Amino acid sequence: MSKPSFEARVPIYPRTVKGRFRKLKTAILLLAYGVYFLLPWLRWDRGSGPDQAVLFDLAGRRFYIFDLVVYAQDIFWLAGLLVIFAMLLFFVTGLAGRVWCGYFCFQTLWSDVFYMVERWIQGERNKRMKLARSPWNANKLIRYGLTWLIWLLISLLTGLAFTLYWGDAPELFMQMITGKAPFAAYATTAFLTATTYVMAGLAREQTCTYMCPYARFQGVMFDSDTLIVAYDEKRGEREKGRHKPSKQLLQRESRVENGVGDCIDCGFCVQVCPVGIDIRKGQQYECISCALCIDACDTIMDSIGYPSGLIRYTSEKELEGGKSNPYSLKNIGYAAVLAITIGALIWSIMTRSDVEVSVRQIRQPLSVLLSDGRVQNRYEIKFNNKTSKPRHYRLSIRGLPEAELDSHWKDDIKLNPEHSIKFQARIKQKPYIAGSNRTDFDFVFTPMGEENAEAVIHHSMFYVPDNKLKKN
Ligand code: SF4
Ligand code: SF4
Repeated sequence: MSKPSFEARVPIYPRTVKGRFRKLKTAILLLAYGVYFLLPWLRWDRGSGPDQAVLFDLAGRRFYIFDLVVYAQDIFWLAGLLVIFAMLLFFVTGLAGRVWCGYFCFQTLWSDVFYMVERWIQGERNKRMKLARSPWNANKLIRYGLTWLIWLLISLLTGLAFTLYWGDAPELFMQMITGKAPFAAYATTAFLTATTYVMAGLAREQTCTYMCPYARFQGVMFDSDTLIVAYDEKRGEREKGRHKPSKQLLQRESRVENGVGDCIDCGFCVQVCPVGIDIRKGQQYECISCALCIDACDTIMDSIGYPSGLIRYTSEKELEGGKSNPYSLKNIGYAAVLAITIGALIWSIMTRSDVEVSVRQIRQPLSVLLSDGRVQNRYEIKFNNKTSKPRHYRLSIRGLPEAELDSHWKDDIKLNPEHSIKFQARIKQKPYIAGSNRTDFDFVFTPMGEENAEAVIHHSMFYVPDNKLKKN
């Protein structure tokens, strides 16, 4: 009989486990939740502008991240950040396997909390399995209903917290609860609520196994030196396989002598696994390297007096008796690209100018002949003050002899903190002075009232039609 192409999901009921990796995971979870939920409420005095520490102001086309204000034109930083994330993921995966999945991924963190709620309302693994098998009755209805309700509440808070990053959090929160927030705020919250509920409550490990692209390609970053969660098969099985613990086999020497392995086949490592696999079958792509099976097996080993580490973080090479080398060419390459990209991004942020000027020559028409015989070119100037202080500039030109600069903003360009202005400047010159139909010149923006501040210089071009170059 051929195998069916579809197999229904076998529900997973992970058992609670205590241990150092569980503690580490809980600490990371608390930190991540604390940062995610509280950050929009953190106030930050940056002199001007909003007082929210992290604010993604789409309408104002700028992101506030503590003292850093990122404008739309700084979008290449985002590209740099994406490269850094990608390289960091490659580097860490090559070195330590899927630690991102096991400890930091949102899917893992949120599923973990949903499991905690499930355990709290429905009980430990056996009770949950029994409840799932039982027919619908009042007890099942209440426990399932309460679980779903709390999941929904966590999902709603998750969606709401995400939305608060995109507006003034206290004000937006009040608008949300009084029904006065923009439609986009409700739509975003509803979308995040639904996706959180589905991913962490219903799909769970299936998100990692079937949907996540990283789970599929992470294998190519692994090599025999990569740190993985692995079962020491040689020690666990020996020649005669697993055994039931007995007094005669308590000493390692007697187990070695009898050829039996250290695994007592208790199944604890399988019961705690959030993706429902048996690590003793070897490396599997479903494994998210959460290390809970290490905690489980260490607990068992400690309780029967065997050395811990039957399941442990190790590498294929070490399992074969060799020694891992974390300094492979591949890892050094990832680390180098990572360091260069981080350095370039920091350098770009640190050396960003306080003001940004763009000058565009108006080309419709490129030049106009005035009644006094002069030729006029027009320019559109955009001036952006990226600082939290007001700035004043005086505009002049250099490199165009006897030319006249005509602009409303010429003598005192006032720039409010974090504001930009756009204006036109006209330059008029007698055509025969130009000498050529294209003359390079500079706009010079001289700072007023600021000692040691450097002038901002912007290069441009003055155009005179060929037939106007000669003196009439
Ligand atoms: S096999 Fe172990 S490390 Fe892998 S997902 Fe299961 S419990 Fe986590
Ligand atoms: S927890 Fe350890 S002893 Fe128990 S089945 Fe798993 S590997 Fe064997």
